[in-house]
Amino acid sequence: MTNDDGVESPGLHALAFALSRVGEVTVCAPEAEESAVGHSITTRIPLRLKQVSLEGLERTYCVNGTPADSVKIAIGWLMTEGPPDLVVSGINLGPNTATNVIYSGTISAATEACIMGVPSFAISLGTFVNPLWPTAADIAAQVAETVLERGLPSRVLLNVNVPNLRPEQVRGIRLTRQGDSSFVDALEERLDPRGQPYYWLAGSYQMTDTDPTTDALAVQDGWVSITPLSLDLTAHHVFSELSRWSWGDERREREPRR
Ligand code: MN
Repeated sequence: MTNDDGVESPGLHALAFALSRVGEVTVCAPEAEESAVGHSITTRIPLRLKQVSLEGLERTYCVNGTPADSVKIAIGWLMTEGPPDLVVSGINLGPNTATNVIYSGTISAATEACIMGVPSFAISLGTFVNPLWPTAADIAAQVAETVLERGLPSRVLLNVNVPNLRPEQVRGIRLTRQGDSSFVDALEERLDPRGQPYYWLAGSYQMTDTDPTTDALAVQDGWVSITPLSLDLTAHHVFSELSRWSWGDERREREPRR
């Protein structure tokens, strides 16, 4: 297990508690919050691994690095008995739907596991306030059992988003596609005490894609959204169109480069 909200996050603790019913849990997570770091890895400073205590768990570690670092060090170094059967990343505070998938540290941790050949999923809760962790934790255990039983296709991971509802209010599980909505950035300029400008990235999420088959809409409508994500980012659907384009070869033959 890992996350991007840091080893002290209540979402991680709720997940650990739920997954302890499914199997033997090892936690390796960033020591501080690493939200929105995407798939960054640490290559220019040393990584430090520290054992921490988490109630009811024997193997809990934190790293002064990113979510992807945590997975690399856990599978590549910590787990000398061999790779885990499953890597679960979360529970993230806040949804990881639509364009957020690109920025998400939570998903990147699951992606790293997938790259290393371990079945994985990311799980996020669709709220930033008053999180109902037990709902998402139970869904995580349910999805974990299914993935352990069936495995996942090679180079595919799951992105799970749970609505912030009580369990009995959740309508069910829907397989979705990644939507197109995104944050509309607002950059604020302020002055520091020395009169020099600095910039603070803000913005708000704009639901521009209202297709009901998307992740964000499913969560908004009270469904658990499961989106299969592929390591292959190739836009296969434009291949035939782009293969008909002229890419300049004939121009180059006409006027050879000097
Ligand atoms: Mn986060």
